[in-house]
Amino acid sequence: MFALKRGCFRLMRRLEDSISPFFDCFRLCIFAIKSVTFNSFSSKNAVLDAAMEPIFWTVDKVAKYLGPMFVVMVTGLTTSVVLIYYFYVLPYYIEDQIGLVVPFLLVVGHWLLVNIIFNYYKGVRTSPGCPPVNNSEIGAATICKRCIGPKPARTHHCSVCNKCVLKMDHHCPWLNNCVGHFNHRYFIQFCVFMLMGTIFVSISVWPLFKQEFFDIEKTYANIVHYLSPIKGIASIVKGRGVAENEPERNAINQIVHEKESTFHKLIVYEFFLTFSVTIALGALTLWHILLISRGETSIERYINNDERSRLKKVGVIYKNPYSFGFVENWRIFLGLSGGRTFWRHVLLPSSHIPIGDGIVWRIHQAHIRINNGFKHV
Ligand SMILES: [Zn+2]
Ligand SMILES: [Zn+2]
Repeated sequence: MFALKRGCFRLMRRLEDSISPFFDCFRLCIFAIKSVTFNSFSSKNAVLDAAMEPIFWTVDKVAKYLGPMFVVMVTGLTTSVVLIYYFYVLPYYIEDQIGLVVPFLLVVGHWLLVNIIFNYYKGVRTSPGCPPVNNSEIGAATICKRCIGPKPARTHHCSVCNKCVLKMDHHCPWLNNCVGHFNHRYFIQFCVFMLMGTIFVSISVWPLFKQEFFDIEKTYANIVHYLSPIKGIASIVKGRGVAENEPERNAINQIVHEKESTFHKLIVYEFFLTFSVTIALGALTLWHILLISRGETSIERYINNDERSRLKKVGVIYKNPYSFGFVENWRIFLGLSGGRTFWRHVLLPSSHIPIGDGIVWRIHQAHIRINNGFKHV
């Protein structure tokens, strides 16, 4: 019995001796990795960021290369909606309606169209603004860890454009451009005018859409026409022609039917496209209107939320230093100073530059309430 115990003990010792170098090696590797990557700022978030870096890199590259395609898509879809409106929707109102409907459609439609084209072009072509290279022009500023250059307040680094952008809001793939200090107004005006445009087209195309889409006979005829190349359905269509015994009339009917079918498809396309864009763009535009009303950019929204919840835990109320109230926030955003008016410089195309240089910002005295008192920071 004793001999058996000694045998087991020796076997365990041998096993331990043979395995322990591997454990020592493993511990040494972990220690080496820790010593190389040690940083007093290391945290779970930093590790997670590092792990997600390849995904961010891929998304950035895809966004960069898809940008020009998105611009072509916006231009193409808008052009198709406008052409269908000119060739199919307007003639319907010209033929069937009386009074001031047609002049109204022409004036409002062209006002929206001009503003959409102007603001989209300016949004795509206007640089959002970058900080100057020389730090002395900025004064106190932080340093961008990517550009290794000065980074004024409200400036953020765009990883798609690979540069710092003044008062960066977001990188917009639809504009293939960053939205920042110098083109933020064009972006919002484009969104608002485009939204008004899609609502305008949806409403004015509705009577035609209703007539085309909810008319059972027309819908059935289109389905039969669409399926006619398929064996069986084709024989039904052909059989009807033979029974009438009028080949010429049948051919004319076929041409008329094809034209009606094209009209039907285009009207359905026009309505579905403008209606779905209204829903999607409406949500996006409302979100941005809310942010501007609060004097925030999309990025600052997250930063301010974090700061708000952090300070709330210690009984402090955070207030955005760049917010001056609803009216003043919009006046600053729209650049309405020096005699500029809403009617001339917002409702009509205008290239005026925004208030300020995007580097130095007027700061509201942010009140932080502590124990029922106020402290300025
Ligand atoms: Zn940068
Ligand atoms: Zn960008």
